This record gives sequence, C-alpha cells and structure tokens, in this order.
Amino acid sequence: MAEPTPKPDNVLVVGGGWAGIAAAVELTQNGIPVTLLEAARQLGGRARCIAFGDQRIDNGQHLMIGAYQAMLHLMITVGVDPETAFLRQPLDLHMRGLRQPELRMRARKLPAPLHLAWALATLRGLPPRERLQLLRFSVRLLRGKIVLEHDITAQALLLGERQGARVIRALWEPLCLASMNTPLAEASAHVFLEVLRRTFTTEANYSDLLIPKNDLGVLLPEPALDFIERRGGTVLLNHRVEHLLVDDEGCRGVTWRGGELTGRRVVLAVHPVMCRRLLAPHPALAGIAAELAQLRQEPITTVYLRYPEHVALDSALQGLQDGIGQWIFDRRIAGHPGLIAVVISGRGEHLDLDNTILGEKIGAELAKLHPDWPAPLATRVIREKRATFAATVDVARHRPATITPIPGLWLAGDFTATGLPATLESAVLSGQRAAKAILGEPAAL
Ligand SMILES: Cc1cc2nc3c(=O)[nH]c(=O)nc-3n(C[C@H](O)[C@H](O)[C@H](O)COP(=O)(O)OP(=O)(O)OC[C@H]3O[C@@H](n4cnc5c(N)ncnc54)[C@H](O)[C@@H]3O)c2cc1C
Repeated sequence: MAEPTPKPDNVLVVGGGWAGIAAAVELTQNGIPVTLLEAARQLGGRARCIAFGDQRIDNGQHLMIGAYQAMLHLMITVGVDPETAFLRQPLDLHMRGLRQPELRMRARKLPAPLHLAWALATLRGLPPRERLQLLRFSVRLLRGKIVLEHDITAQALLLGERQGARVIRALWEPLCLASMNTPLAEASAHVFLEVLRRTFTTEANYSDLLIPKNDLGVLLPEPALDFIERRGGTVLLNHRVEHLLVDDEGCRGVTWRGGELTGRRVVLAVHPVMCRRLLAPHPALAGIAAELAQLRQEPITTVYLRYPEHVALDSALQGLQDGIGQWIFDRRIAGHPGLIAVVISGRGEHLDLDNTILGEKIGAELAKLHPDWPAPLATRVIREKRATFAATVDVARHRPATITPIPGLWLAGDFTATGLPATLESAVLSGQRAAKAILGEPAAL
C-alpha cells in the first residue's frame, strides 16, 4: 500500500505514547493536520494493554490521582468519561504488614484542607509523637512554609522535618517509590514537594485515588486513535523513525525503514533513551542528548496472579510494608474477578529472581496476608526495565525543555521539564505543551 503523503503544513508526531497522543489530539482538535508515527503495533507506549490468556491486562498496573487534571481533560476530549472509567475514592492508604503493624490513613469527602485534617486525625498505626510530627509537617506544607533553595534528598527533607522512623518506613518511603519510582534516599526533594503540593494542598479531590476500571488501551490510546483519524489525522503504526532530517532551515522530516516523511514541524515524543539516540547526531542537539544520558532509568515489575473468582481483597488497593511486593490491586473492578496485580517499583532483590521464583514468592506473601486463599491458578510477571527515569536530586538539570535549538522540532515525553515525576500526567502535559508551542499559545502548567 502506498504511504500517505503528509500535507505540507502537516505536523509529524513521533511516538504514540500518552505524550504523543496528547500532542496529536490537541493539534487535531485545533484543525492542524497530524501524522502520528508509532514504532509498535499499537498506541500507548509504556501504558498499554497486553494479553494474559483470554484477558486483556496492562503492561504494568497503573494508579492515577485526582490531581491528574490534564490527563482527565484529555480523556474527556476523546470521549471517555472518567466517572465510569475509574473507581474514584478519597485517599485510602491501607498499608498491610507481614511483620509490621498495619497503618491506615483515610481521607473523607470534605473541603480541603479538612479532608487531610480528617485523614491525619483518624490515622491508625503511628505512635502519638510521630503522628504529631506528621501533622506539623502537613501544616507547614499547607501553609507553603517549606521552601528549599537547593535540592536535597527527600529523606533529608523528611528528617529535617523531624519525621520519625516508623512514618518514614510505613508511609513516606512507599509513597515516594510509588509516585517517583525513586527511593527516598535518592529522590529529589523538589520533585517530592511538588507531588505533595499538587496532591494535598489544592482541591480536596486531587488526592482521590483513581483506579482504572478498564485496561489502559480503553482509557486513552484506542479512543484517541479514533478521535485523531475521524478528524482527518493519520496514525501510522509499525513506523519506527530512524533519523531526524535537519537542514539549514531546521527540521524537515524524518526517515523510517520505508523512506522519508517530510513535514516542517516535528514533535518528538519518544522514550528518553530513543530521544537521545535521535538527537545525538545533530550538533545543535548534542547538548540535550548529553543531558539525557544522565537520566538513570528505573524498572517497575508487575506480577499478575490469577486465583479462582471468589478470591478478593477487602479494598481495591492495599499497600504492603515489608514484602517484596509493594502494592496489591484487586482487578475485580476491571471485570476480572480473582485477578490480583502486585506492583514492585524500583530496584531490589526481585531483579535477581527469575519469573517463576518471583511469582512464587509473591504468592507466598499474599498467602501470609490471606491464609484462606487457595494457590494461584496462573502467574504472569511483566518487567519494564526502563519504566521511568529516576527523579534524583537535581534531576531538573537534565530534563529538556519543549522547545529545541532547531526550528520546527519540539520535544515531548514524561521526562521533559514538567517538574513532575515520570507519570501519565507529566506525559500528557508535555504533549499538550508541545502542541501549544506549535499553536503559538502559552503553555499552562
Ligand atoms: C510498569 C509501569 C507502571 C507505571 N505506573 C504508573 C502509574 O501508576 N501512574 C502513572 O502516572 N504513571 C505510571 N507509569 C509511568 C507512565 O506509564 C509513563 O510516564 C508514561 O506512559 C510515559 O509516556 P510517554 O508518552 O512520555 O512515553 P512512552 O510511553 O515511552 O511513549 C513513547 C512511544 O514512542 C514509541 N517510539 C519509540 N521509539 C520510536 C521511534 N523511533 N519511532 C516511532 N515511535 C517510537 C514507543 O513505542 C512508545 O509508544 C508507569 C510506567 C510503567 C512502565
């Protein structure tokens, strides 16, 4: 089949993850013709669905929060109703322990900051002194009193704020790993504070947990593809871009295995490792490529265990304080009764275990928490080795801006300078920023 020739005013969006999708949707919505090139057979990138027997599951169990405003608006734009797509519940952190006592922190539907005050007042599982220090820290955060001139580790920040050993281990460490995929001892306090501010200090429902009721494909990539194509855009799957074409005037297109695609405007929305590869040959972009090389990549592992259908957690999500597994999701809400997903962020002993042993160990941890559960019928381990960049101290120095020194070339992706950790919200914001730059609108962040 002949390759569709992009129109001269066409924007080429390279990469069909959530950043590229966001850019393509924003542009098409504003009447700009778009060609979206994606290397894989499907859109979605690091947030996509895959097959597990006859079920559709995700390449990694994702959790969203109410603060993901850009993502929620994008979903609405492409016709997805977040009210039905997610189980939305006020913050409920139920941290179970294999050896430690459990900790539970639940917010209530109250105006901010009362929702947080309620959660702290009713928190269970902390000694009174540590609870008081947590309350003090929260008040300082709410009042905007925590200002750091220089970046330090999130751990140093918390110790400076006199957070006790128990609250750090049972609450802060898991929250930092979950939101930044970076351990407290290395995580950037600037990024950590940004996450806490956005989640807890604005609207009460920003700290709501949004647990997908569908697989990730249905949440955005599939309806977005439809949206783009119905408005005259083109989506080319199986199109891996090999080079950027740059001349004296700027970017003039890309090459892929099948030839050249020209277009004077290109949004590069690929993984940072691929971004570095595509930028490095061009002298004007070598500086950005060198910074990207400094972004360390961190893994996320998801272990799916299929149990008989009657097996269920007593809530859709639970934390695990002292196991290999960190977060346990009951996928019953996604129409998969008996399917349990266990998420392990970052590095650890699990990286040295083969899939069979890891599956067995996670199964044994679940059996300790739920001695009445039968053995799982099937297990699937999915390892995403380059799930996110590590949001370490001073990471902002290495994150590129949307605009590049080459006219006609913009960058998008969760790793660009959004100030957020590598999340779906960061990816979507970055894509929308690139589109707004092309449209000549100021980018809202
Ligand atoms: C296991 C896992 C769990 C996660 N959990 C959460 C979570 O709970 N909450 C949260 O908010 N975030 C989570 N994240 C992070 C989130 O998924 C990412 O931040 C987001 O998906 C990144 O989107 P992106 O578009 O920036 O990049 P990507 O998803 O990497 O998209 C880049 C796209 O470009 C394509 N591509 C690459 N090279 C080329 C090329 N040469 N030519 C054409 N196309 C190319 C890729 O195939 C891909 O589709 C998780 C990530 C993983 C992996």
